[in-house]
Amino acid sequence: MRAVLFRQHGGPEVLEIADVPTPVPGPGQVQVRVAAVALNHIDLWMRRGLPALKIAFPHISGGDVCGTVSALGAGVTGVAVGTRVVLNPGISCGRCVACLSGRDNFCPDYRMLGEHTQGGQAEFVVVPAANLVPVPPAAASLSDAELAAVPIAFITAWQMLVDRAVIRHGETVLVLAAGSGVGSAAIQIAKLHGARVIATASRDDKLAAARALGADEVINDSGGDFLTEVKRLTDRRGVDIVVEHVGAATFPQAVVACGRGGRIVTCGATVGHEPILNLRYVFWRQLSILGSTLASKSRLFEVMALVAAGRLRPVVDRVLPLADVAAGHRALESRSVFGKVVLTL
Ligand code: ZN
Repeated sequence: MRAVLFRQHGGPEVLEIADVPTPVPGPGQVQVRVAAVALNHIDLWMRRGLPALKIAFPHISGGDVCGTVSALGAGVTGVAVGTRVVLNPGISCGRCVACLSGRDNFCPDYRMLGEHTQGGQAEFVVVPAANLVPVPPAAASLSDAELAAVPIAFITAWQMLVDRAVIRHGETVLVLAAGSGVGSAAIQIAKLHGARVIATASRDDKLAAARALGADEVINDSGGDFLTEVKRLTDRRGVDIVVEHVGAATFPQAVVACGRGGRIVTCGATVGHEPILNLRYVFWRQLSILGSTLASKSRLFEVMALVAAGRLRPVVDRVLPLADVAAGHRALESRSVFGKVVLTL
């Protein structure tokens, strides 16, 4: 089969299209013919190399997949070949106390498709049967690229706002980097929960797109400052929740942007992972700093139902053929996109 792989870490030039053996599903596993696979920042980190994560080469990235079931491993029942599915990106043991209490992303064996395993930037991918989410009939009209844009961005933003920050009706939510996959999902999920949304981005066209998704207020932070506007827009009270995944570049302002009892929830650090933290704000304003990684598999069922109902909308910036994967990486790195970059096969 054709796959995008890399045999060493480096820039986009290490990505190659190659022929590799088609993966065969083992017991309890399913083979999926990939129709579309969305890019994520983790794909960039995998390609560049992460000090704490040793991977086997050649590596195939890709955790955001839409496709059809093409073969079943031994013992898999209740799944029909030909079923159109999206894949849950988190792989867990299914037996431990975390898995059995619906917190499978807290599993000691938790792994991510395309990060710790061979991923979906290929004609076929193999995953545990538990990772399949059939596309609901009401979502059948969505394109493969739109469906591939859903899993990682939406379950990540869902857990951040709903499970970790426990968003409440009428709260004010600051979404940083609104043009990212997580940012564009967070705007919609916060609006769905009755919040007032303030979104930041560095370009006016992205701010217009954020407004179109439902953001009530937008701030152009290309000069590096968003705090002044947050103070003005909240009558100096500050916001209730900050959706943060930029990192050291924004974290100090994110802390000060929080009002009393505010929650900062972070799922990533694309621009620096060791921010300055002024503890005086944390204790005096009684802030909560919350970490978040993906979400329980169950959340993708909830998200897909809302996508099918038209209440959440996948945001696709551009669709590229698999062979243009390097151009997709460069687009993501240049921060010129709003929403997801999706590869189709
Ligand atoms: Zn487990």
